[in-house]
Amino acid sequence: MSSSIISKTAVELSDGLRVGTFTATEIAQAFIARVEAVEQDVRAFISYSAEDLLQQAKASDARRAKGRSLGVFDGIPVAIKDVLAEKGKRLTCGSKMLEHFVAPYDATAIAKLREAGVLLWGRLNMDEFAMGSSTENSAYQRTCNPWDLERIPGGSSGGSAACIASAEAPISLGTDTGGSIRQPAALCGVVGMKPTYGLVSRYGLVAFASSLDQIGPFSQTVEDGAMLLQLIAGQDPLDSTSFKTKIPDYRAELSRDSGPWKLGIPKEYFGEGLSDDVRRSVENAIAFYKTRGCEIVDVSLPHTDLAVPVYYIIAPAEASSNLARYDGVRYTHRSGDAKDIQQLYLKSRAEGFGAEVKRRIILGSYVLSSGYYDAYYVRAQKVRTLIRNDFMDTFKTVDALITPTTPTPAFKAGERTSDPLAMYLCDVFTISANLAGLAAMNVPCGFSAEGLPIGFQLIGKPFEESRMLAIAHAFDKEHRYGTRRPKLGKD
Ligand code: GLN
Repeated sequence: MSSSIISKTAVELSDGLRVGTFTATEIAQAFIARVEAVEQDVRAFISYSAEDLLQQAKASDARRAKGRSLGVFDGIPVAIKDVLAEKGKRLTCGSKMLEHFVAPYDATAIAKLREAGVLLWGRLNMDEFAMGSSTENSAYQRTCNPWDLERIPGGSSGGSAACIASAEAPISLGTDTGGSIRQPAALCGVVGMKPTYGLVSRYGLVAFASSLDQIGPFSQTVEDGAMLLQLIAGQDPLDSTSFKTKIPDYRAELSRDSGPWKLGIPKEYFGEGLSDDVRRSVENAIAFYKTRGCEIVDVSLPHTDLAVPVYYIIAPAEASSNLARYDGVRYTHRSGDAKDIQQLYLKSRAEGFGAEVKRRIILGSYVLSSGYYDAYYVRAQKVRTLIRNDFMDTFKTVDALITPTTPTPAFKAGERTSDPLAMYLCDVFTISANLAGLAAMNVPCGFSAEGLPIGFQLIGKPFEESRMLAIAHAFDKEHRYGTRRPKLGKD
C-alpha cells in the first residue's frame, strides 16, 4: 500500500480518501516511511515531525468519519519551504541567524491550508534567505537532486522541488523572487508556478525583496498545482500589496478553456548559452502546441538583456533594507562577545549571515547610498518599467509566451559556488517575469541525454493564471513527465 500511496498525485490521493481506499493516517504513514528511507540521500527537509503529521492525519480522519471533511485536500500532506511562518514551528530561512527562531503566528498561506484540512508536513531546505539558485547557500545542508545526487536541485526552493521528485511529499510550497520556484522545478522535473505579484498574500513570508517575492505551488501535475493555488490565492487585509481580484475555479478552467491559443516565442530566450538538450525539448513542446492547432508566433522582448543586471540592483537593494532587522537584539543570533551596541550589531551580523547574504547586503547598501541612488537604483526602476512594457506590448497579440525555464539541466554541486556571476545567470529566463509582476510556471517536458529533467516556461498575463494553467495542462495531461520518479534508496 505505502509504495503505491507515495506515487500518487494529490488528486489521486484525494479521490482515494473520498472513496475510502485509504485513510489520511495511512497516507501520513506512507510519507513518513518514505522520508525515513530516502531523506539521508536527498536532504530536502530542515526539520519535520512524524508525530505531528500523524496527529493532524488522525484529526482529518475523524472529521471525515463525521462527514465534516474540509474540502478536496483535507488529509493531503503539503511540505513547506522554511521561509513561511507556521505557528509554533522553527522558521530558519536556511540561516544561522534564525537557527532557534520559532514563528509566533501563521502566514496567511499557511492559515488557509489549515482551514482546508491540509496536513502541514515538515520544513524544507532553501538557500539562505532565498538568495541563490542551487540550495548550496543553506547554512544547514546541501539538498541533492533526486535524479542525480551529485547534482544540485536548483534554488532557492531546492527542498520544495526535491521533495516532490523524491516522493517525500505529494505537493509543496515555495517562493519565487527571481526564479526560485520555476528553476528548481525545471531541474527536478516537476511543476512549479509563480503566481502574479499580488495574487497570494505575503503576510508571514520572511521578506527578501518585497516587490518581487511570491509564494507558489510545486506538484507532479498541473492539475495538482492549480488546486493548491486555489487554496492560497486571494486578497488579504494583512498584505496591502495583495490584489482584489475574482479568483476563478482553476481546476474547472483547465478543461473549459481548451484553446487553440496564440503562443509567442521570444527570440531573446533561444540564443547563445542554451544547451542543445534544452533547446530540443522546448522545441518539441512548441511543436506539440502547433499540432493542437495553436498559432505560434515569433516575438521580441528587446530589453531582456537588462533583466539580470536590473534584478541584481533592485533585489539586493530591497534585501539590504529588509535584512536590517536582524540586529542581534531581536530574533535569535546574538554574538556572545560584544562590548558595546555597535559591536553587537557588527558581530551578530558577521556571525549570523553567510557569504551570499553579505554580498547582497553590501551590493544593496551601495546602490541605495546617496550619490549612487540615482545612477543605479532609480535607473534600474526605469528599466524595470521598460521590461514590463515589452511584455504588455506582446500580450496585446498573444495569450502566453513559451521559453526554456533554464539554460541547462542541473549542474554538479560545487561547480558554480566560487563564481557568483555564473550562479546569477541560472535565472536569466525567469527573472523578467518577477520584474514585470507576471504569472509564470515550469512545465516538465523531457529529459537530457544524461537522463536529467528539462522544463519549459509559460509566461502568462497578470492575473490570468487560469489561462496559463489551461495551456500548461493541455501539454501535461498527455505527457505527465512530472509524475516520473527516479530510483532512490532501495527502490
Ligand atoms: N536566484 C535568484 C537569487 O539568488 C532568485 C532567488 C529567488 O527567486 N528567491 O536572487
